[in-house]
Amino acid sequence: MTVTELLSRIQAAGITLILEDSRLRYRPVDRMTPELAAAIREHREAIITRLAGNSAATCSKCGRRLYLPESQAIGRCIRCQSEAEFVDTLARIKIHHERTRRAVAARVKELGGTR
Ligand SMILES: [Zn+2]
Repeated sequence: MTVTELLSRIQAAGITLILEDSRLRYRPVDRMTPELAAAIREHREAIITRLAGNSAATCSKCGRRLYLPESQAIGRCIRCQSEAEFVDTLARIKIHHERTRRAVAARVKELGGTR
């Protein structure tokens, strides 16, 4: 499996990879499979290099750094996005938050919590 294939499989599984102080993290944790985890370990360095490149992405119009993966997908910051692109960005962020919220709720339930 190439790194590109692996990254698209990770994305298809609804998992977001995050580079935090050069450590590779992912969320939601409960979506990770042993197979994907093993593939990530195998390609760890290449993935980090790829993510580090993404995090240095800048707006193609004004040159601002793009922090949101949603903005990086479009290549322009939210100030330079067209109205349609901005609506799309908001929708992607909403889906992401909804997945996170559901994962947290499922984990709380699993742990026997009530809130
Ligand atoms: Zn911009």
